[in-house]
Amino acid sequence: MRVNATGRVLHDPKGGSFRFDAGAVCLDFAYTGGEGQYAIFESLHEPADLAEWLAQPPLAAVMTAIVTARELTAAKALRQAIWDAAHARAAGRPLPARAVATINRAATVAPLIPELAADGTTAGWASPVRATQALSTLAREMIELLSGPLAERIRECASDNCPLVFVDTSRPGARRWCAMERCGNRHKLRALRARQAMDP
Ligand SMILES: [Zn+2]
Repeated sequence: MRVNATGRVLHDPKGGSFRFDAGAVCLDFAYTGGEGQYAIFESLHEPADLAEWLAQPPLAAVMTAIVTARELTAAKALRQAIWDAAHARAAGRPLPARAVATINRAATVAPLIPELAADGTTAGWASPVRATQALSTLAREMIELLSGPLAERIRECASDNCPLVFVDTSRPGARRWCAMERCGNRHKLRALRARQAMDP
């Protein structure tokens, strides 16, 4: 998994889309949908949707077994736990015990097992490749993120009403926006208008 290969295109149900790089595959996964007010962003409707998401890079875990409805339910529970934990950490709050338990439980399963190709220059995942293994890999990545040096870099977009949380993996650590094309440009435009309003 290459860190610089993270990020997905998010679609707004009201129209429009933008590329959002949450900085970690587990965080990208947290944006595949949600509960409550975020249910309109749901993209994992069927077990096959989960298989398709996991098969995309950087994880590129092409399932060798059909994803079950039970695995989809587990995936959504893990997704919510990752979201809750990331937002709690970004806000400086203690992590919800339920989220920690859900992440830990997902990590108890054997993760995806890397396998070097015969030519020795490329790698994939050893068969069988199951959804529970991929979820374990995501859960383990989240555990490393929360307990590692980048934990301090988990933050919410600096825009007032944007709930997107990311981990800033840039060297200077000065990332403020979920995406420049979304909140960054909006902020620049507002600052420009404010300046123009002040000028006689
Ligand atoms: Zn934002």
